[in-house]
Amino acid sequence: MGITELEKRKILYKDTLLCYQCAKCSSGCPLVEEMDMYPHVVIHLASLGLERSVMNSETIWICASCYACAVKCPNDIEIPNIMNRLKQMALDEGFEPKRKDVYKFHKVFTDDILRRGKVHELRIMIEYNLRLGKLLKNATLAPKMLFKNKLHFIPPKAVKGFRKWVKKTS
Ligand code: SF4
Ligand code: SF4
Repeated sequence: MGITELEKRKILYKDTLLCYQCAKCSSGCPLVEEMDMYPHVVIHLASLGLERSVMNSETIWICASCYACAVKCPNDIEIPNIMNRLKQMALDEGFEPKRKDVYKFHKVFTDDILRRGKVHELRIMIEYNLRLGKLLKNATLAPKMLFKNKLHFIPPKAVKGFRKWVKKTS
């Protein structure tokens, strides 16, 4: 006997069932203002099996997997992993983000984080601009970020064991 839709949902979103909608994840998300659906709403809809409405939103593409939400969650729900799963499901089902720049940023960000487990902001800025064909986009931000020590010319060291882990899991 095959598994039912409900069982599949429970397997896919078993973490989301622990969510009691405190919205701490949304309040801790640095990108929430760019999103069209709050992270806690994504979790709620996913737990109800309404993932198609989530796949239609920009939020899953804007999410940068920074883990700020997961750190705040009192139930240790792995929100970034759920977002990534939903992104993969959206791609599998032929959904595309409405804003192409969002998808390009997502690609640049994930490619970069897969190099060392940490982002190199300068590289991301340059590569994203190159992909957009607008080399000087947001160029005025660079001096401010340099001044605040948020932009580094040298990439950060890889997280210990990260490359091995990527190799093993890919
Ligand atoms: S912080 Fe955790 S429990 Fe609270 S709404 Fe977000 S996912 Fe749900
Ligand atoms: S992982 Fe995504 S949803 Fe969570 S805080 Fe970061 S950007 Fe927001």
